[in-house]
Amino acid sequence: MPFAIRFHQTGGPEVLRWEEVAVGDPAPGEARVRHEAVGLNFIDTYHRGGLYPLPLPSGLGREGAGVVEAVGDGVTDLKPGDRVAYAGGPIGAYCQVRCLPADRLLKLPDSLSFNTGAAMMLQGLTAAYLLRRTYPVQRGDKVLIHAAAGGVGLIACQWAKALGATVIGTVSTEAKAELAGKHGCDHVILYTREDVAKRVREITGEGVAVVYDGVGKDTFMGSLDSLRPRGMLVTFGNASGAVPPFDPLLLAQKGSLFVTRPVLDHYTSKRSELVALGSELFDVVVSGQVKIEVNQTYALADAAQAHRDLEARKTTGSTILVP
Ligand code: NDP
Repeated sequence: MPFAIRFHQTGGPEVLRWEEVAVGDPAPGEARVRHEAVGLNFIDTYHRGGLYPLPLPSGLGREGAGVVEAVGDGVTDLKPGDRVAYAGGPIGAYCQVRCLPADRLLKLPDSLSFNTGAAMMLQGLTAAYLLRRTYPVQRGDKVLIHAAAGGVGLIACQWAKALGATVIGTVSTEAKAELAGKHGCDHVILYTREDVAKRVREITGEGVAVVYDGVGKDTFMGSLDSLRPRGMLVTFGNASGAVPPFDPLLLAQKGSLFVTRPVLDHYTSKRSELVALGSELFDVVVSGQVKIEVNQTYALADAAQAHRDLEARKTTGSTILVP
């Protein structure tokens, strides 16, 4: 029988267990995929810890790449042997093999490895919808991207630069600053030491057009204070904790600002949206405009250690788990 990471109660990384699971034939509309690599994402820690509640016991993980083994009735555009990758759909990617809805799978371009596929789908599709749909970055825009050396961060900074923006990134250490500087950031702010809004004003004058903020609680106010009048705060994650409730009058006082709290699933719920966004992502990666940095690799069975390192801010770029 194949193995998977599962958890029976929420908590720290120690709740993750390596268990045997039964995997049957794909139901109508499904494909069975044997994973070659699985992606690690910060959202996995929210599921494990209970910030985003799941019915228990549960599998974990939302991203993988591998080979189609079998397809269910009605699946016409995939066949055994196809190389595929995905992000989203039912939770449970931390496994060796699984069935999942075929309409969530994208064929992996031949030039991209399984490791790259598993590393780039969730973080890359996120960068894609943030930069191309939520606030479409225009040439000449000044943009602020928090956690610039992280998974979403490294991809978003390179992509924003390729779109012609002036990119300001924030990071916690000198080493991460150097990495962000090599991946699209024109300016890097050490947000653990410097006043972000003050530095942004020094760099830009009136402030940035948009802030992409996956850090949440610790950066929220500084993000609002970094915006130009009528600028947009895209608060899309909680790496430092969830943003507490705030008074909308603040948005008036700070310059008729916009705030949105987007989720990848709402930008890819239609197959056509997923395919369009996926092809934009594949284009920038295959063309070399965005390089996917797989900077950590763990055995899937060691997912708990990967979670510890991610939550301790020890990782940079993307991380994969090998089944
Ligand atoms: P990252 O690789 O970016 O890891 C998180 C980073 O956040 C850390 O490396 C760290 O960078 C920074 N950070 C700041 N404060 C803390 C803290 N207190 N604890 C831990 N890390 C902290 O993760 P991902 O790329 O997987 O995800 C980035 C964010 O995007 C997450 O919040 C995630 O939930 C969100 N996300 C949202 C999606 C959506 O659709 N809404 C989809 C995908 C991701 P540093 O050391 O430089 O501060």
